[in-house]
Amino acid sequence: MPEQNHKQALQNPIFKILSEASRELGVDCYVIGGFVRDYLLQKRIPKDIDVVAVGSGIDLAKKVASKLPGKPKISIFRNFGTAMIKHKDLELEFVGARKESYHRHSRKPVVEDGTLKEDQERRDFTINAMALSLNNADFGDLSDPFDGVSDLEKKVIRTPMEPGITYSDDPLRMMRAIRFATQLDFSIELKSLQAISEHKDRIKIVSKERIVDELHKILKCKKPSVGFSLLHQTGLLHYILPELTALEGIEEVEGQRHKDNFWHTLEVVDNISKATDDIWLRWAALLHDIGKAPTKRFDKKIGWTFHAHEFVGSKMVYKLFKRMHMPLNEKMKFVQKMVRMSSRPIVLSEEFVTDSAVRRLVFDAGEHVDDLMTLCEADITTKNPRKQNKYKNNFILVRQKIIEVEERDHIRNFQPPISGEEIMEAFDLKPSREIGIIKEAIKEAILEGEIPNEYEAAREFMLKKARDLGLN
Ligand code: ATP
Ligand code: MG
Repeated sequence: MPEQNHKQALQNPIFKILSEASRELGVDCYVIGGFVRDYLLQKRIPKDIDVVAVGSGIDLAKKVASKLPGKPKISIFRNFGTAMIKHKDLELEFVGARKESYHRHSRKPVVEDGTLKEDQERRDFTINAMALSLNNADFGDLSDPFDGVSDLEKKVIRTPMEPGITYSDDPLRMMRAIRFATQLDFSIELKSLQAISEHKDRIKIVSKERIVDELHKILKCKKPSVGFSLLHQTGLLHYILPELTALEGIEEVEGQRHKDNFWHTLEVVDNISKATDDIWLRWAALLHDIGKAPTKRFDKKIGWTFHAHEFVGSKMVYKLFKRMHMPLNEKMKFVQKMVRMSSRPIVLSEEFVTDSAVRRLVFDAGEHVDDLMTLCEADITTKNPRKQNKYKNNFILVRQKIIEVEERDHIRNFQPPISGEEIMEAFDLKPSREIGIIKEAIKEAILEGEIPNEYEAAREFMLKKARDLGLN
């Protein structure tokens, strides 16, 4: 294929500076990887620029920094032989061209200096191995030794070298292949897909953090199910999130079947991704049914049951986050809460929707009630149009009622209208069981709609309740 020129991708003055710096040092340099791929794919100029120097990347970074106004700070990672500069809205990563070889037990390669071609060979995919020259003689020329351009056209993920070796050397690439396929809507070449299945157990040497990083990127995509089905199809998912693969399958006893909760889950994740970009709400969708595997029972009278799966599932969320080295903070608690409450709106909407039921939902879900509704709407995957309509209409009703109840009673961040101190003062009580009883009774009366969430009404109610308790 004739080499093409892509000067138009390199109009930012930074590229001239890179070019000058490399000429002064007498090292060739190229833009490589994601920048070239995304530019060719979308004709958009990316902000992340990976630069490879045939020589020292760190020296090149220093030279470039010295030419930039304001002499920006360089972050140097000596162990990796890389350096990074932030300049305006650009992020420049420098690396020296290298050749890599691997040991079986580690993702960390043995590194030697190499040529551009050798550096391109060590890259994960043909579409990530393309480089644009920044050298005077051929500025803007594309170097594409593995025909990445035609893979971009065919929309395929393919490795430059033998896929078995590529994936086994650095098993993170298995996740990256699936992530890029999901992000770009590409397919993975059959040989590659087979190699991933064959080497799936190598994922064990990849750190949890890197795996989660890729899972996040998949979950951020428009249609995350693409990635999760590939993870499933190659067998990787079983190593990473066995809680999900345990949901697969349909069992039949005495003519009664339950739905396949794995494929249902993937549908829910796609649904919710149309409604929200919130990564944690997407996690909640992914995990909302994980409690169904351990709680599944068959009962002769009622058929399949998943008793308390929401509660069991929320406990499993903690274990899963912990195992995957994910943060055990308020984000995890949010996911737990969504899982724990995931059936509440649907149960509520199945019957006649009362104000007090809505008030209780808002009380329990608090500030996350809208997220919970979004999750529950995404959870409707029935193909029966009559049922689907019924649920959707009920949810519209519930949403309306939430607004009405909110306007009246402000339950979302409920603060008791009467404090414990005030109750103690009113009846000259020491801290005691009675105070708790009165407080709880006031809250219940508000949630039941017996009284509005207002001070006067609550005070009157308190006096009456105290009389019932024989306090005054
Ligand atoms: P994005 O940043 O959009 O995810 P990218 O292609 O820039 O995509 P990075 O992870 O930033 O991906 O890596 C930059 C380049 O480094 C890649 O394009 C690829 O050439 C190379 N690369 C990254 N990780 C690996 C790996 N594990 N094995 C081989 N090459 C890799
Ligand atoms: Mg990048």
